[in-house]
Amino acid sequence: MKKRSLIVAGMLALTLVACKKEEEKKTNTEMNENPLLVEEFNTPYGVPPFDLIKDEHFEPAILEAIKMHQAEVDAIANSTETPTFENTILAMEKSGYLLKRNARIFYNLTSANTNDKLQEIAAKLAPEMSKHSDNISLNDKLFQRVKTVWENRQSLNLGLEEAKLLEESYKSFVRSGANLSEEDKEKLRKINEELALLTLEFSNNVLAANNQYELVIENKKDLSGLPEAVIQAAAETAKEKGKEGKWVFTLQNASVMPFLQYADNRELRKEILNAYQNRGNGGEFDNNEKVKRIANLRLEKANLLGYKTFADYSLEETMAKSPKGVYDLLNKLWVPALAKAKEEEAEIKKMMEADGIKDDVQPYDWRYYAEKIRKAKYDLDEQEVKPYLSLENVQNGVFGVCEKLYGLKFEQVQNAPVYHPEATLWKVTEKNGDFVGVLYMDFFPRASKRGGAWMTSYSEQSIKDGKRIAPVISIVCNFTKPVGDTPSLLTFDEALTFFHEFGHALHGLLSNVKYESLSGTNVSRDFVELPSQVLENWGADPEVLKMYAKHYKTGEVIPDALIKKINDVGTFDQGFATVEYLAASLLDMDYHTQTEPITVNIDTFEDASMKKIGLTNAIIPRYRSTYFLHIFSDPVGYASGYYSYIWSGVLDTDAFEAFKTTELFNQEKANAFRKNILEKGNTEDAMELYKRFRGAEPSIEPLLRKRGLTEDKKTITEKL
Ligand SMILES: [Zn+2]
Repeated sequence: MKKRSLIVAGMLALTLVACKKEEEKKTNTEMNENPLLVEEFNTPYGVPPFDLIKDEHFEPAILEAIKMHQAEVDAIANSTETPTFENTILAMEKSGYLLKRNARIFYNLTSANTNDKLQEIAAKLAPEMSKHSDNISLNDKLFQRVKTVWENRQSLNLGLEEAKLLEESYKSFVRSGANLSEEDKEKLRKINEELALLTLEFSNNVLAANNQYELVIENKKDLSGLPEAVIQAAAETAKEKGKEGKWVFTLQNASVMPFLQYADNRELRKEILNAYQNRGNGGEFDNNEKVKRIANLRLEKANLLGYKTFADYSLEETMAKSPKGVYDLLNKLWVPALAKAKEEEAEIKKMMEADGIKDDVQPYDWRYYAEKIRKAKYDLDEQEVKPYLSLENVQNGVFGVCEKLYGLKFEQVQNAPVYHPEATLWKVTEKNGDFVGVLYMDFFPRASKRGGAWMTSYSEQSIKDGKRIAPVISIVCNFTKPVGDTPSLLTFDEALTFFHEFGHALHGLLSNVKYESLSGTNVSRDFVELPSQVLENWGADPEVLKMYAKHYKTGEVIPDALIKKINDVGTFDQGFATVEYLAASLLDMDYHTQTEPITVNIDTFEDASMKKIGLTNAIIPRYRSTYFLHIFSDPVGYASGYYSYIWSGVLDTDAFEAFKTTELFNQEKANAFRKNILEKGNTEDAMELYKRFRGAEPSIEPLLRKRGLTEDKKTITEKL
């Protein structure tokens, strides 16, 4: 997943223009005391001085930066000069430097290393940030200047990137309500403020619900079926929680998923899955009313802006363009996926019968029996693969692939400030030694980190006075921890997650455009997962596995037989995986294509949505409403955008075909991918960029084939 900034891009893209001298005088002492008010960080590669930053610095630094930004914006808006690209569009792009930087640091920490105090500050800042964003996007004087430049665009002879910057700026104003009456603007302001707060509360509730639950096991026989490493990890968790001698499982994926996969005790599997799928559903951290209110506020906002539904509003700026575009693709995939899932369910049912269980297949049975079938059919035990996937070896694999494709080199930076002892900093250079950027990597779960894996940035690439400003990128994961003397051994999925996040990181690192707001991963949601997902294909390729998958103890290269098993198993359980994903995507679309406010309770809404598509009772959507962070934890986030992963999935499998059918490290294709996709950010239309790389529009055929969802390998030629 790619974490999206809470700030409206373009609105806040700026450098110091006006009032600088005055500010310097006024805040000199403050600046000396608060490391976040210094214009340039005196650190290696300009990374944040995490060693000096304290929690209490954030609130004053961000509030001050908001003030400074407001002054810059006012100076642009109130200018008496004729509006030009330079004095309006470019000036806006350069304004708000300090705010953007400090907000990035702050929001990155509230995800990767939070605490009660930071969460309290975030709650206080949420309405301030939202108000500030509105103060800009609803500033009529400013909009009139932008509009004048927009209307004169034909006569301005703008370059490609300048024209795109102008277009994005103008559209962003209109989409933020600049054309509304004063009364409606006020309404919109209120909606945005409420959304900011509600979405923050939503995600705090999920974090709290995650941390609140533990399954404590006292009786050794309840551990039956679990691999030794999983038992050890549970014992360590128990120790951390002051329950030495017992075993504790939590709702972190790295803990709950192996339990569901291996634990023989059906009742306990039921118990933990029940807790998992009811996070935020009732109890102390209830998200029911929040979900409803968020969806309804979004509808109100869309209507106010002249759109029928929130999805119409939200999808306008994507590759899919409209709800119809999204439903068309999802429904096209749903039919073969559900058919495959039902075949898988029948197989599980047979196995349960053999175990003497007459019950229907339940969601807490699926992973357990799927694992047994996987073992029986493919004789592939995940625990057999893990010793070949030590974190260090997978990291070497990721680095190796990036070197072979793009000539990149990675070197760890010692003694650089880090925000947590587990985070490391890496310097990235070109083959010829030219500096590319730096990258933080932070791998293991902890209570202060939210679940999942994501890429984010501390500063983005741009060109200033003809010089490339290198980005500071970060990836954050929740991989299996080292236990005792055993290093971190990843599951195959985790290894691919590493490749995935690294693909996002490359998009940020290799960016080579003029303007920050158009750089790196600032592209539409259904395009942003292409660079990440495409890299997973190399991670899973037999040739590449032999490069990096080596036994952590003996150094033995992963045996061919095991690779074959991994390959064969590639299409296994894909009915399930595709269905649980598509169900969540369709649920997301259903929330955001409502034309009337939702009045029923959330369980009812979700049930109706799932009944409509005929989801089997044996599978629950990958995310249920009350913990669907992708769509409810951010005022915009992935709302009506969760489909993006499979949209990008079509792109990535089609893109990888270009290599797979020629050479895995085809330099010409790698160059074309780098030049047209990884370097271009949002400076051109995504489909045009893709076609320039591939020579044609993407086809859905490679995706269906990869997932084993098609029998016929030749007849499907439908395009996105
Ligand atoms: Zn991603």
